[in-house]
Amino acid sequence: MPHYTPPLRDMQFVLHELLEVETALRKLPQHADIDRATIDAVLEEGGRFCADVLFPLNASGDQEGCKRAADGSVTTPKGFKEAYRQFVDSGWASLGADPEFGGQGLPHVVDSAFREMMNSANQAWTMYPGLTHGAYNALKAFGTPQLKALYLPKLVSGDWTGTMCLTEAQAGTDLGLLKTRAIENPADGSYAITGTKIFISSGEHDMSQNIIHLVLARLPDAPPGTKGISMFVVPKFVPDADGKPGERNAVLCASIEHKMGIHGNATCVINLDGARGWMVGEPNRGLNAMFVMMNSARLGVGMQSLGLAEVAYQNSLAYAKERVQGRSVSGPKAPDKPADPIIFHPDVRRMLLTQKAYVEAARAFTYWAGLAIDREHKHPGEKVRADNADLVALLTPVIKGFITDNGYESTTLAMQVFGGHGYIVESGMEQYVRDARINMIYEGTNTVQALDLLARKVLADGSAKLMKFGKVIRELIDGHAGNAAMQEFTEPLAALWAQVQKATSEIDVKARKNADEAAAAAVPYLRVIGHLVFSFSWCHAAGVAMRKIDSGSNDPFYKAKLSTARFYFAKLYPETEALLSQVMAGMGPLMELDAKAF
Ligand SMILES: Cc1cc2nc3c(=O)[nH]c(=O)nc-3n(C[C@H](O)[C@H](O)[C@H](O)COP(=O)(O)OP(=O)(O)OC[C@H]3O[C@@H](n4cnc5c(N)ncnc54)[C@H](O)[C@@H]3O)c2cc1C
Repeated sequence: MPHYTPPLRDMQFVLHELLEVETALRKLPQHADIDRATIDAVLEEGGRFCADVLFPLNASGDQEGCKRAADGSVTTPKGFKEAYRQFVDSGWASLGADPEFGGQGLPHVVDSAFREMMNSANQAWTMYPGLTHGAYNALKAFGTPQLKALYLPKLVSGDWTGTMCLTEAQAGTDLGLLKTRAIENPADGSYAITGTKIFISSGEHDMSQNIIHLVLARLPDAPPGTKGISMFVVPKFVPDADGKPGERNAVLCASIEHKMGIHGNATCVINLDGARGWMVGEPNRGLNAMFVMMNSARLGVGMQSLGLAEVAYQNSLAYAKERVQGRSVSGPKAPDKPADPIIFHPDVRRMLLTQKAYVEAARAFTYWAGLAIDREHKHPGEKVRADNADLVALLTPVIKGFITDNGYESTTLAMQVFGGHGYIVESGMEQYVRDARINMIYEGTNTVQALDLLARKVLADGSAKLMKFGKVIRELIDGHAGNAAMQEFTEPLAALWAQVQKATSEIDVKARKNADEAAAAAVPYLRVIGHLVFSFSWCHAAGVAMRKIDSGSNDPFYKAKLSTARFYFAKLYPETEALLSQVMAGMGPLMELDAKAF
């Protein structure tokens, strides 16, 4: 059976040594009082909840799955409901939410760290509060004061949970094709919503008192395509005059999907049969409002893969230390044993170090982005807020796309380290592979993330946002100017940044002639930008570790950081050369073959 220990040491390294969050948060009036002791206490207690309450339900939840009864009700696996009650009663649900709506107002960066641990412990369970978090963000940004007053305190406390209802059978990536209709009821300003949504995560369950669906639908006179979509809040139980769950709404779970992984999460077909809903945001501009939830969910999906990659790494590392097979080719390493532990074989080390390098860089990257989100919303300086908003917008598709691709690779490598035992259910590794696979698909496939990054975030503004990230890179490199020992890290980072700028301008020129050029380059381009961010993270981490060692620290943690940074630049970073060749190869090789000739 697998195990999970919250990786507090590395989390604290990122928060306190890399990001220096206490100092950074002091500049945000809302968080000026938060100190290291509070942050560490939250992580320790939160980690205990994840390891002791959520983690033991992960494998059993996978095996049992969710069950739908004839009346459309859904039962989650044994223990899920009780764990959720504990989550709500202990206040974990409201950690990062705004105090105005009953939240505890902790910085986003701290909340992100807690979410990583929840996902390591149990991704399927974490999706119930995860979607609630996204619904809260969208309603907070676009809801009327009445809607906010009615729904936000309940979503914040966790008494009610949320969903996002976008997908229909004919409308997946292309939401412009959706058909669900909304007809206004002039008597009370509500809408009657009719249609069928598919693949709705947490769409029906027994964990909360009410489920609040955010639904995309069309008004009768809506223009076709994405410009004719509106967003509605559709509660399972319509709140009564006291704000308590009242009349049962006509929104029912028609079936639950049988799927590859995340069995503990109910993926539902949801029928809306004249269900009562209330518009959120402006008519025909619902996608704008839904994008708040989608962006929140995209960052959340990156966290899911970081969490899975971490727990899979922990288990494969422990296994590699205890499993003995064969002798090291350079001579016995454990002569007292019949064979050497497999961790001494170079290729097993490649698999372990790849996971370690991906996990630790993903942690540094996502927490850095978490702090940028705090600055975007709470910094007193307008320019600082705007710059951070640009960085978050630029890098959201990278968090979603790059971290989930790496997360899948990491879990597969963890399985490989276990050999045949990894393929057997008891090891837990095959569940991680199955669970990690969906993260590359939902919330906009990773292709969609790549198109978003290159077309919308980079080319559309003439690389203005990208150059802002370039400034962050430059500052890090300049900070190490004259430090010869750091050149092994700063030089490849600077070289990649130069190549990215060159490749971006060349794609820009080609894409002006034919937009397919950008679409053809997008996926390898996102991976190059992912490596640019990871090179930045590893350079940053190496600098901090080197300073600690130079000032006399013997803590093996810092030596391990330096070794992992070296591994990253020597063994993973070189992939960028091949990726850049793919980027520059253009659309020709992809479009030459006639569709009929395949
Ligand atoms: C377990 C699970 C949970 C989900 N949860 C939710 C949820 O809570 N709420 C919700 O609304 N939806 C949810 N989804 C739906 C999910 O977001 C969609 O499956 C996803 O967006 C892709 O849509 P699709 O499946 O229709 O694939 P399609 O859109 O048909 O795409 C098929 C393939 O074509 C590619 N493709 C499509 N268009 C383009 C293009 N323009 N350029 C290049 N490539 C393209 C895609 O990348 C993909 O590889 C969930 C799905 C699953 C499986």
